[in-house]
Amino acid sequence: MARLARRTLWLGLAWMCVAVAGAAWLALAHRDTLREAFETDARIAHRLLSQRAVQLEAILATLALLQPGAAGGDAAPEQRLPALYPQVLRVWRRESAQAWTGADAGALADGEAVSRAARRVALASADFAAGRFLLVQAADPASFALQIDLRALVPQAEWPYEANGPVRVALVHEGQTLVLADGHDTGSIGGAFSFRKHLAAQSQPFELVAALRPGWAALPWVAIAAWTALSALGAGLLLAALRMRAERLRAHALLRLDQVGRLNALGELAAGMAHELNQPLTAMLANAQAAQRLLADVPPDVDAARGAIEQSARQARRASDVVGRLRRTVARPDVGTRMQPVDLGDSVRQALELIEPDLRRLGVQPDLKVDAAATSVQAEPVALEQIVHNVLTNAMQALEQVPPDERRLELGVVRDGLRGALVVRDSGPGIAPEALAHLFEPFFSTRADGLGLGLSLCETLAASMGGTLTGANSPPRGAEFRLSLSLVAHAATT
Ligand code: ADP
Repeated sequence: MARLARRTLWLGLAWMCVAVAGAAWLALAHRDTLREAFETDARIAHRLLSQRAVQLEAILATLALLQPGAAGGDAAPEQRLPALYPQVLRVWRRESAQAWTGADAGALADGEAVSRAARRVALASADFAAGRFLLVQAADPASFALQIDLRALVPQAEWPYEANGPVRVALVHEGQTLVLADGHDTGSIGGAFSFRKHLAAQSQPFELVAALRPGWAALPWVAIAAWTALSALGAGLLLAALRMRAERLRAHALLRLDQVGRLNALGELAAGMAHELNQPLTAMLANAQAAQRLLADVPPDVDAARGAIEQSARQARRASDVVGRLRRTVARPDVGTRMQPVDLGDSVRQALELIEPDLRRLGVQPDLKVDAAATSVQAEPVALEQIVHNVLTNAMQALEQVPPDERRLELGVVRDGLRGALVVRDSGPGIAPEALAHLFEPFFSTRADGLGLGLSLCETLAASMGGTLTGANSPPRGAEFRLSLSLVAHAATT
């Protein structure tokens, strides 16, 4: 019982370890999937922004190449660009004879110089607070410049990020930051993913920065719950299998005890019969011898009578010899040779485990106290098991006769002088005074279906191990049986 409870506890702990380890593994595997998805999204966003940036360079290069329209004329097709491209806010055209105009004239002039020297589109200025930047392309006879809306650079239809998603996305340039998505915080569970890369357009050296701090909500809860339930199911099945095995072992042990008990009872029966038979046989022999003497005094047919009586005397002696042989056969001389050190406390615990279902049925909680100094005794394990089982079975039969709330069973392994003793005390009705003197006699029983061989057998077994078994009433009520055996430490001297 206790062993099964311990096993259940260990199994519970093992299950918790397996469940936690599995959940951790699932979380880690899921984290890798999250990281991959994050990096894929970041690469998509980078590619899209880079494409838009390169497209702006292409627009400016095309304008410079084709030099559309005439200065100041109404045919200035470049002015239709903002209508075509929402990211283009404004277009400037500077004829070689003119100067750049407006508030950004200085920046445009500087940018144009860079563009002319590098022979490519150049960044004239970037104002991330206002969400704008200026690109310029130096050319002849006219140079062109574009004012770009940074936010409109993002192609919403293909953009992989939600505005209120968990990923923070920003564009960074020379200390300026334009946040494209805030990235809501879900309570980080540690570790963060990040991505930084400059756009693939020389004229727009903006850095795309994406960051994700995975939160509790990002854990694969369904998989974790499924794993926990599955492992609990596995542990439950294992526990059921262990229980079934314990039941099977208990049934086996009971069967063995029963078989041993029956064999021993048979021996006890033979011993009883031998005892019963021996007396009349001896009397028969004595009578025959007396008759022989009497007949010797009477004259008629003395020889025939003498012959018959001699014959009867021979038969009687032969019967007596048979009985003697039977007695010697059932004396179980081998018990003494199988003596060994045995833990009395453990034997009692095993016996209690065997009868646990009956104890439970009776509502009895046995109270076992073991004195460590008295538990190691010299015994024959099977005989000891037989005695303990018999005494406990008798105690249960006694307890069955009293109301459930009055049932007590106390067991103690105690020091008894130089011996170790098992004391079994029950709160049953006790031993009837007239039964006390006959407890250990074969065939003495007060139970309707009792054989009356149990205690007699146990006493014989105890004696064959050099021990004693006694029974008495235990005030205020109930019976107490005491099995004393040599302690291992004193076995040599006792
Ligand atoms: P059986 O159990 O077949 O009667 P036992 O030799 O085991 O044979 O017991 C003999 C008798 O001893 C029982 O019939 C009963 O009267 C008495 N006895 C044994 N144990 C107890 C006990 N714990 N309480 C009261 N009486 C007992």
